[in-house]
Amino acid sequence: PAARKYTGMVEDCCCDYETVDSINEEVLHPILQDLVKLPFFRYFKVKLWCDCPFWPDDGMCRLRDCSVCECPENEFPEPFKNPYSGLSPDSMICQEGKPQAAVDKTLDSKVFKGWVETDNPWTSDDETDNNEMTYVNLQLNPERYTGYTGDSARRIWDSIYKENCPKYPSEELCHEKKALYKLISGLHSSISVHIAYDYLLDESTNSWGQNLPLLYDRVLKYPERVQNLYFTYLFVLGAVTKAADYLEQAEYNTGNPEDDLKTQSLVKQLLYHPKLRSACPKPFDEAKLWQGENGPELKQEIQKQFRNISATMDCVGCEKCRLWGKLQVLGLGTALKILFSVDGDYHLNQPLQLQRNEVIALFNLLNRLSESVKFVHEKGSSIEEVIKEQ
Ligand code: FAD
Repeated sequence: PAARKYTGMVEDCCCDYETVDSINEEVLHPILQDLVKLPFFRYFKVKLWCDCPFWPDDGMCRLRDCSVCECPENEFPEPFKNPYSGLSPDSMICQEGKPQAAVDKTLDSKVFKGWVETDNPWTSDDETDNNEMTYVNLQLNPERYTGYTGDSARRIWDSIYKENCPKYPSEELCHEKKALYKLISGLHSSISVHIAYDYLLDESTNSWGQNLPLLYDRVLKYPERVQNLYFTYLFVLGAVTKAADYLEQAEYNTGNPEDDLKTQSLVKQLLYHPKLRSACPKPFDEAKLWQGENGPELKQEIQKQFRNISATMDCVGCEKCRLWGKLQVLGLGTALKILFSVDGDYHLNQPLQLQRNEVIALFNLLNRLSESVKFVHEKGSSIEEVIKEQ
């Protein structure tokens, strides 16, 4: 095998690259792949109508018809369930006319019961707004190439980086701002990796496959983007590990005892796997942050910035990108809530409480990051040769 490109500790984390790759490939990736297919984790509740608070004039967001359908279950027209079967691409004016960008919705509201409504100070989503929410089957809507690009996409990323988490100057020692930048950059890398992993290679034959030059141009060429992907992965894994007791005891009830037992058992396997517990027991050390004099103010400032990022997701002009953008930002917000709003299991003497949707987002985000880390590790060291040959 080619020499490893990344060695040593992942910056600001507590595990090294080799360990991350081995626990990911041997333990976490296989468990997560099974877990996200189970009913509890595959339905995500989301408000998909883009209610952009920042650019009301945005061309994409003016199109109310952008969504495939947002009607009650009994009115849900059969052909709309599968955008490939009933709709001609021309009828989907949003997502720049690309059917692959549309969301394939499945309603299964019986899956959702028994969890409390609770606030997350890090995100702007209002989960109680039930009229506006739809359930999406994530298994039918993989994050992949959608054709969303150009000014609209660029504007979102630019605004996130410029306004909310400016790249830190190297001399600045504020770990907290640096961490926020790295989280977003790591998520951005992961999205790019998924685009490269599942790309529309030939529109005329509808053939999909890997686009390695794109993987190289957008991610692997920039070591910092790879490092930030590993950072984000360990950050989210750190949150999952910290909330292990809560997550182990949570209700994974969807009305199907067989599936639900499987869910519980896989969650437990993941949380307490001996290899994870011995090789990387504390993936991220949150105690290092917010310790300075201005800790509390800084936390509020960064919380506000993150809420802005969360609100920006409503401006993403492609429905499937918006779905995954919202899910993954909620997942990051949940990781932030676990690591920073809670002291041990308690926050201001309140026990940690998560919404069902937060837990779904957290594990699906971890799975996406795990897939990205695996693909980057597999292709990372040999890709320059592959690119030269093409
Ligand atoms: P972009 O990826 O748009 O990057 C813009 C600029 O940001 C780059 O020029 C670079 O300066 C900087 N940058 C790039 N990567 C990083 C990084 N990792 N860290 C720091 N800075 C970086 N498209 C799809 O096909 N499928 C999707 O599921 C999808 N989901 C999206 C979700 C969101 C929330 C957003 C905002 C966009 C999504 N897109 C998706 C669009 C996609 O991310 C790109 O914007 C698009 O493919 C155009 O890519 P680009 O080459 O112009 O660079």
